[in-house]
Amino acid sequence: KNLKKHFPIKRSIFRGSRGTVKAVDGVSLAVQTGETLGIVGESGCGKSTLGRNIIRLQEPTDGKILYKNQDITHFNEGELRKIRRDMQIVFQDPYASLNSKLKIGEIVGEPLRVHRIGNKREREEKVQYLLEKVGLDKSNMTRYPHEFSGGQRQRIGIARALSINPKLIVCDEPVSALDVSVQSQVINLFQDLQEEFGLTYLFISHDLSVVRHISNRVAVMYLGKIVELAETEKLYDNPAHPYTQALLSAIPIPDPVEQKRRERIILKGDVPSPVHPPTGCRFHTRCPLARKICREEEPTFKERNDGRWVACHLV
Ligand code: SF4
Ligand code: MG
Repeated sequence: KNLKKHFPIKRSIFRGSRGTVKAVDGVSLAVQTGETLGIVGESGCGKSTLGRNIIRLQEPTDGKILYKNQDITHFNEGELRKIRRDMQIVFQDPYASLNSKLKIGEIVGEPLRVHRIGNKREREEKVQYLLEKVGLDKSNMTRYPHEFSGGQRQRIGIARALSINPKLIVCDEPVSALDVSVQSQVINLFQDLQEEFGLTYLFISHDLSVVRHISNRVAVMYLGKIVELAETEKLYDNPAHPYTQALLSAIPIPDPVEQKRRERIILKGDVPSPVHPPTGCRFHTRCPLARKICREEEPTFKERNDGRWVACHLV
């Protein structure tokens, strides 16, 4: 609810100014049990920061995080321990996120050890079970990360995330570092596991096609805020916010007739600095429809008749 995460900066890389980077600047959304909520937006829009704050890997600057009606916004480490088992994260880079000095069995079993679940033998059995669930042979237990391909390493990361039976998994660009040929296999794995274990995903990606494929609903972020949130098909078939329209117009469509019908919208300029976001609607400096009110008043993020949420004066 109205979540904010600001990072103080000393000497800014953003146009030499001092101040704070407003990475997430007032986001409200609800993730529903069993769904996949996609978060899309260009790099630097605050997607990863949002994901990390939601599962309390970081403490928000302002706003609230509610988990099962419990306010976890300012939980201390001891209190977080209890909810940590329910929430896991899978990172983008399968090369950097696995400790190269540990064997696969130790990596996947680490959360079980940390949370003191089972004895050594039970943990080993669980690790073998998980490796098979993610499509790897249990004989891999004693091998090291460098012996595996990117796709296999991401499977190992997923097995580790699954080890303590989480309910919510934040997937932060989990296939972006993989070859396109491997991406769909890993996406399919995510979907199979969701069905089997009743998982809920917050799926962060800049890849609109991947997000469309896996998400039930999609939130579009721009400069630390959500500009549109809707059911996937509604959003992709008929985007309401000018920024969503521009983003989607850049996806190639296989059908040439349809491709012609949809004009590519080229946005002017770059994404402004998150240290000094534009007044009014943050998108006004680039929006093809901007007018006076857009520069002066911030549009509220509100629900429309068709159930989608949009922040725009004209929609
Ligand atoms: Fe564009 Fe104005 Fe809507 Fe912002 S509020 S998206 S500037 S039309
Ligand atoms: Mg990111």
